[in-house]
Order: sequence, then C-alpha cells, then structure tokens
Amino acid sequence: MKRLVFAVCIYLLGLLSSPVFAQKLKIIASIFPLAEIAQEIGGEEAEVRLLLPPGADPHSWEPTPKDILNLKKADLLLAVGGGLEPWLEDILAGLKAQDLKILLAAGEKGHHHEHLHGRDPHVWLDFLKDAELSLLLAETLAKIYPQKASYFRKRGQIAAQKFKKLHQTFAQTLQTCRFRVVPLAGHDAFRAWEKNYHLEFVTLAGQSPEAEPTPQALKKIIFLLRRLGLKAIYYDEPQALRFAKIIARESGAKVYFLTPGASLTKEELEEKISFFSLMERNLKNLSLGLECRLTKTGQN
Ligand SMILES: [Zn+2]
Repeated sequence: MKRLVFAVCIYLLGLLSSPVFAQKLKIIASIFPLAEIAQEIGGEEAEVRLLLPPGADPHSWEPTPKDILNLKKADLLLAVGGGLEPWLEDILAGLKAQDLKILLAAGEKGHHHEHLHGRDPHVWLDFLKDAELSLLLAETLAKIYPQKASYFRKRGQIAAQKFKKLHQTFAQTLQTCRFRVVPLAGHDAFRAWEKNYHLEFVTLAGQSPEAEPTPQALKKIIFLLRRLGLKAIYYDEPQALRFAKIIARESGAKVYFLTPGASLTKEELEEKISFFSLMERNLKNLSLGLECRLTKTGQN
C-alpha cells in the first residue's frame, strides 16, 4: 500500500511539473468572430481572451497597457489585419523579439490607410475564408502544441464544415430574392456578400463608420427606395439607427438590423450568443426585407 501511494505521488509530481499538463494555450483574439473560431478549434486546450470590449468600434479602438501586458504572456495573437485594427502595426513592431505567434485573418500584414483605398478588412464576413482560417489556425495550434495536433485538426475540420454550410445557406437563400440592392445606414462592411451572393450594398457612411451622413446621402437612399419600390432599410450599429429611422419615415420602409458581428453588446456577450446565430439572424432580416425564400439552415 505504501509503495502504491509513493508511486502515485511520483506520478502526480510528474504531471504537475509537465508544462503540457499545467498550461492551456493562451490565445488572444482581436474581435468576436475570431475569438469564437479560436475557442471552437482550441477547445478545452485553449484559453481565449477577446480584446475588443463590448460596444467598441474595431476601426478606432486601441488596446490598454493591461491588454499589451496580456499579449506578452500569450502564445498566439489572432487578429484580422488588412488595416482593420489601427493598433496592430505598432504592436507587431514592438513584439518582434517576443515568442508570440501571430496569425492574421486577412493574410499578410497591411497598412491602416489601405482600408480607405479599396481593400476590404472585413474578411470574417467571407465564410469561405473563415473555413480556410479554421484549418490554418488548427495547423498553427498543432505546431505550438504538437501533442494535441490531431485534436486541433479534427476541430478545425468541423469548424470549416460549419462555415461552408453557412455559406451554402446564404447562397441558396439569397439567390431567391426579389431585390438585390441592400440600402444600409452604415458603412461598407459587407463587400464579401456583394461578391459571394451578388448583392449590391448602397451605404450611407461609405468606408468610414464614424462619418456623419450628409442630407444628400440620406436623400439619395430615400429616392432609391422609392424608385425600386423596396420596403427595407438596414442599419449596422446602434448609432446608425436614427438615420435608418429618418429614411424609413420618408420612404415607408421597414427598419432591419444587419450586424457585421465584430463588436457585440455586453448583453450579447453575456448571453454567449454565437457568431453563427448572429449571421442567421442577418440572413433572416435580409430575407424579410429583400423578399427571399429562407432556406432551412439545420445548424446550431
Ligand atoms: Zn468595419
């Protein structure tokens, strides 16, 4: 009996001193969809921290000193790149000497001003790219933590399938719409959907989410709605609701919400709402406004 206890103690000591047993991978994700992908693939082997606080605008938010300290302790930073996060360039320069791995959803690192020059940083709204990112992230985690490689790869495959299915559901539903123009009190976040689903977004704010719309821009959308006979106006964040309401009042349209899903409210984060359910709600709202036949999704 004594020998057995002794053996068990030695075994437990071995487990405790093994870094593999003691540590979860620390992943920091810049925006909500990336945090969800990281958690899906890292599973119970990862501890995921979301940088962007509730309600913050990913285009203008800057990390606090505490966030930067956390970054220094992390194994992986998962960010969008492509000019979305204004702080990323500086952080990358400052962390060069560190052992932190960085994975950018938009591919190679870009400059902030590119957002204004036609490059689209909202890559997470391209579900086929999310599928690719899931596989790439699984490979990256497998490299950092080779003992769990097959665990990450399997989860990467499952996540990639879910994103492909989401893409198919969008494609099937949106090809049935009576209208293909999406008037949006908001900014140009949905270019991936224009490309993938043959929609045309007419936005009030253009490329800069913070810009106050001019009366001319408001009028343009009101006339467009009247001309098309379209009875829907969308808005992409709570601050844009009042403009959507003005357009609705002048055109007789109904107001619908369409979220890019990067930044959630405190309530949504507490509810643990998923990126997939946000996108399904978006699709439902598009179907209602553009008069499409909603395909049953069958996924959760
Ligand atoms: Zn944006």
